[in-house]
Amino acid sequence: ENLALDVPYVPTNQETVEEMLKLAGVKPGDVVYDLGCGDGRIVITAAKKFGATGVGVDLNPQRLKEANENAQAAGVTDKVKFVKGDLFDFDFSEANVVTMYLLPSVNLKLRPKLQKELKPGSRIVSHDFDMGDWEAKKTVEVGNDTIYLWTID
Ligand code: SAM
Repeated sequence: ENLALDVPYVPTNQETVEEMLKLAGVKPGDVVYDLGCGDGRIVITAAKKFGATGVGVDLNPQRLKEANENAQAAGVTDKVKFVKGDLFDFDFSEANVVTMYLLPSVNLKLRPKLQKELKPGSRIVSHDFDMGDWEAKKTVEVGNDTIYLWTID
């Protein structure tokens, strides 16, 4: 299958996943969206360990199949949902936490959409890539990974 992916699949390691969710201060009641969710690990961890609900979107049906299987195995199918689609066409106004592991150019392209759709108080966490001159509120090193936090005022 020839998928028009903006970013190849590289999973975030589990320790970094947990640090991303901590950096965003994820807690019960939060709605976490992972843009390009891969095997679902960020959203599944947000549900299982942080008590949130979540949505993952990805273009690759194989990844979505894995994400649904992983949600089943983790016992969180009532708290998470995985959707096939392009993240640029996806409405994430219901999210109050957005996570991503994309690419610098993709982050920059996404930035106006994030700033338009997210409500005040929402948090954005990115693995490894920043958002150009939109300065992060916090930057944390986790092993070889860097994670960034922004908030919508
Ligand atoms: N978020 C997961 C994680 O951190 O483990 C996966 C990150 S991986 C680097 C990027 C993911 O984005 C891949 O699963 C890929 O299929 C997906 N992707 C790439 N371009 C996309 C697009 N335009 N819309 C939705 N998903 C996309």
